[in-house]
Amino acid sequence: MSAALQLDGFSTGYAGHPVVHDLNLEVHPGEVVALFGANGAGKTTTILGIAGELPPHAGQISLFGQSTKARLHRRARGGLALVTEERSVFMRMTVRQNLLVGRCDAKRALELFPELDRLQDRRAGLLSGGEQQMLTLARALARRPKILLFDELSLGLAPLVVTRLINAVRAAADDDGVAVLVVEQHIQRMLRSADRVYVLQRGRIVISGTPDELAANAAAVEGAYLADAVVPATTTADDETCVASSQTGGRPQGPTEKGKT
Ligand code: ATP
Repeated sequence: MSAALQLDGFSTGYAGHPVVHDLNLEVHPGEVVALFGANGAGKTTTILGIAGELPPHAGQISLFGQSTKARLHRRARGGLALVTEERSVFMRMTVRQNLLVGRCDAKRALELFPELDRLQDRRAGLLSGGEQQMLTLARALARRPKILLFDELSLGLAPLVVTRLINAVRAAADDDGVAVLVVEQHIQRMLRSADRVYVLQRGRIVISGTPDELAANAAAVEGAYLADAVVPATTTADDETCVASSQTGGRPQGPTEKGKT
């Protein structure tokens, strides 16, 4: 079966200046693939390029085996959903109204996130960050995408909400065959649910593999982060953005079965 999403030697960037280079990457239906990298490594740029928001500078993107140069709205019609760091909800509308906008199947959204049911009459702008992100993901998944691109799934959210969101993404892949490419900073948590991982360093993929392969290559992964990172004056031992931390000896914590948390 052809990949849902495939990049071959893909480069893109801003105003003719390339930021990500020669990317080779694929995501198959039913796979959850994580894109890791330090701040500024090029994760958002990669996601925007795949979505058709940035023009290709070189190489190609194929969706279900068909090379495409279409812009986002045409890719969206073909089943690609993009969720960016800015939560894609209408802040002045109620949850109920948000679930009626676009091609969103409100019933499906509430099946996926029953937590939203009691909030239906509340304005989205009054929801907590976690509730807003659940609404964002509910809206995206209720349109039944074939490919979901998610930039910063759980930025600034509490660990329990992070787990809830990652489990929902995993379920979309397992139950509906959605191909998921997700940028996520909670690396240890994401490694428990991802099928494969790519690590970007200065706009290039420097490591790829399964979570187990990454764990075995923890020093290289850490190196990719340190090479790009601006090292803060103090770091905390429980900073999960420090991949494959020394606390765990570089191994993912907890069970490795998909979706088990
Ligand atoms: P973060 O984790 O901090 O969000 P990232 O890995 O997503 O980082 P990008 O946002 O893709 O990284 O940025 C990669 C590089 O591209 C950075 O050097 C950044 O300054 C640059 N860049 C990002 N957006 C623009 C833009 N609109 N115009 C020009 N350069 C940009």
